[in-house]
Amino acid sequence: MPYKKVLAAVDVAAESDHIVEKARAVAGDNPISLVHVLEPAFFYYGLEPGLGAIPGNLEQELLAQAEVALNGLGETFEVAADHQYLERGHAPTQILRLAEDSGTDLIVVGSHGRQGMRLLLGSTANAVLHGARCDVLAVRVEG
Ligand code: AMP
Repeated sequence: MPYKKVLAAVDVAAESDHIVEKARAVAGDNPISLVHVLEPAFFYYGLEPGLGAIPGNLEQELLAQAEVALNGLGETFEVAADHQYLERGHAPTQILRLAEDSGTDLIVVGSHGRQGMRLLLGSTANAVLHGARCDVLAVRVEG
């Protein structure tokens, strides 16, 4: 039985294609959704919120870039525009909120994404797995 409402969380890095392919495979003929969350810098570096804020114009620029990348993924994998979600905030929190709001029955994440400071805080995949009320598929990402 395919999952009916599949949400693929993508950090729009190179491995995203693989994650979206897996999401498509488990969804069968059902449409999938994509979510990308633009995170303020303090979530990466553990800075005080004020110190880590992204200046307004830079944030607009990053949002615009993220939108282009998300739309590109959507086009490649035939995900309709109204199934592409660009959110702002803490990635695991936003992914879990969207999953609940949209009645998602499977969240697909990569086992890990961009390396680095994130390791200090624990991965998005881990936080999603522990917080989700639905099933979670962690797609193995090499590296
Ligand atoms: P990471 O926590 O960076 O190791 O990433 C693990 C996985 O979580 C990635 O492969 C994505 O599936 C998901 N993820 C990480 N960051 C984001 C983000 N900003 N927006 C959406 N999904 C994300």
